[in-house]
Amino acid sequence: MLTPPQAGTRWDVIVVGAGHNGLTAGALLARAGLSTLVLERRDVVGGCCVTEEIAPGCRASTTSYIASMLRPEVIRELDLGSHGLRMVPCEPALQVALDGGEVVAAWNDPVRTAAEIERFSPADARSYLAADAELKALAARLQPLFLDLPPDTRATGLRGGRELLRLGRRLRGVRGRELEGLTTLLTGSLGQFIDSRFESRQAKALLLANNLYGKHGGPYQPGTLIGLAFHLLSGGEHAEQGFFGHVMGGMGAISGAIASAGRAAGMQIATGTQVARILVNGGRAAGVALTDGTEIAAGTVLSGADPKRTFLGLVEAAELPGDFRAAVGGIKMDGPCGKVNLVLDAEPQVHGMPADAGPGRRALFTLPPDLAVADACYDHAKRGELAGADQLFIDCVVASAVDASLAPPGRHIMTCFVQYLPYRLAEGTWDGRRDELGDRVLARIGEFAPNVPAAVVARQVLTPLDLEREYGLTEGNIFHGDIAPDQLFHMRPVPGWARYATPVPGLYLCGAGAHPGGGVTGAPGYNAARRVLADLRRERRRPLAPGRGTRRHGLGMAQPQWPPGARTALARGDGQEPAGDPPHAVPPGAPPARHTTREAGP
Ligand SMILES: Cc1cc2nc3c(=O)[nH]c(=O)nc-3n(C[C@H](O)[C@H](O)[C@H](O)COP(=O)(O)OP(=O)(O)OC[C@H]3O[C@@H](n4cnc5c(N)ncnc54)[C@H](O)[C@@H]3O)c2cc1C
Repeated sequence: MLTPPQAGTRWDVIVVGAGHNGLTAGALLARAGLSTLVLERRDVVGGCCVTEEIAPGCRASTTSYIASMLRPEVIRELDLGSHGLRMVPCEPALQVALDGGEVVAAWNDPVRTAAEIERFSPADARSYLAADAELKALAARLQPLFLDLPPDTRATGLRGGRELLRLGRRLRGVRGRELEGLTTLLTGSLGQFIDSRFESRQAKALLLANNLYGKHGGPYQPGTLIGLAFHLLSGGEHAEQGFFGHVMGGMGAISGAIASAGRAAGMQIATGTQVARILVNGGRAAGVALTDGTEIAAGTVLSGADPKRTFLGLVEAAELPGDFRAAVGGIKMDGPCGKVNLVLDAEPQVHGMPADAGPGRRALFTLPPDLAVADACYDHAKRGELAGADQLFIDCVVASAVDASLAPPGRHIMTCFVQYLPYRLAEGTWDGRRDELGDRVLARIGEFAPNVPAAVVARQVLTPLDLEREYGLTEGNIFHGDIAPDQLFHMRPVPGWARYATPVPGLYLCGAGAHPGGGVTGAPGYNAARRVLADLRRERRRPLAPGRGTRRHGLGMAQPQWPPGARTALARGDGQEPAGDPPHAVPPGAPPARHTTREAGP
């Protein structure tokens, strides 16, 4: 809830949504000296990066559950360690349980994984090592693009030339096999990649298991290989490639640490506070109106809500170009995931798990269908059908095995990520079929860990509809928009607007719907904050129109002078102005750049 000073103040920055990206952007802007208020509709911060109580004394990462891509820059710049963040590498990083009581692990050391695969196929063991090295090299090539502004594909003239140069510098030296590899990685299908390189069902299952989550499309669809690239980006404090981490205290500890870093810099957060509208005055973002009618003024507004929710739900249609709204309406969302969170009174006993398995091994197992079945599962979801239990992907994490703080003695926390699920059911409603989903998931798990169904003491089933209603994800999409080649880089969230700024000057997108996309990375929030600071710095440098001592924006209130901290931070370049970034803010007195599909003029 808002406190009186929060409502009565005119803020430099308001952030809509306290997802981890909104918090990251808010914390960085507060650190740059800007007065910053973050507004969150739920009673808890973190969005899909939360730890919540699902039974008395039992806490679970109710939505995201493994930290694999959190940007080292975010961890370091916000000093998240000193705000309580502790991650423990998953070891193994991945483990599949297969029919016939077999458990196969992928370890952080590829040589150890290859040794595991060698039991089934020496050729696959060699292929695994070759693919691992090749993919890591390609992912390292892509890595810098994730914290860069995507190229402004619509720039012309001198700026267009500069953009080409910038892109050229990034891709300098990419040729021959590397170029071919990158093309395949960005456009190829996971299924074809696996089939062309591996022969054993065990190795195929390991490669299939982790790389399609949240993805729209069966494993043989073009563009499904990109999940591999995402998971091989460097993550965690030490920027390890292919990092997978258990977060102590659950995923909410990430959001909690970012919120704490922001608060230490003066950022304020109001939970239980839903924004109904982003206010636009004279063509420029001017603040927000809450659902209770309260209006709060701000010089800059960032939205961490997804693009559809932001532009089709919070901004008046008249403030946006029609073709922009149409492009946003066309973003592919539509499910396709759910989650079943369990409290158990016994640890899962997985068939084939070594008797001496340590906590790391006991903490995770995945039940991947084989490639053909996964393909069929997607076809069901596409038709609005709920696939059979044996067709679903189910990724289980028993977080309490590595983190005793989550549950009292004798209780175990197991979270189960499920796909492919339709957002729109062809028959019935999710409210009517929620339990059916929970039952199917438990039936499937019971085949591999027979003690689990009877050990359940509490169960939370989150369908795609629940993800939308409770967590604010339009159509339940966990990434604020599908991760597909036509929705990435300069195409995200929509072509022409991939650089955090929006057709409304002073309004920015800072959540997973912006470049580089979904997952707990902090990257969109980090990049958006840098973009805002660069724009503000340019705006400050611009001379005021004659006779204008004070800029007036928004709700007709005087824009405050720069806080001293902001002046210093902006002047010394803490915002790290992104290279080649065009001016975005409208100069005071200039006609607002409204209703144009160009992000910035040539
Ligand atoms: C079930 C599930 C499992 C996942 N598993 C993983 C995983 O293991 N690892 C991983 O890296 N990623 C995972 N993800 C993806 C990842 O969690 C998300 O992509 C990421 O957390 C998005 O963060 P965000 O800050 O951009 O947006 P969000 O977390 O969606 O935050 C947006 C916030 O805005 C708030 N909001 C929306 N509208 C308003 C409004 N009008 N007023 C005020 N507040 C508003 C919302 O309540 C929400 O808190 C998973 C996601 C889900 C749902």
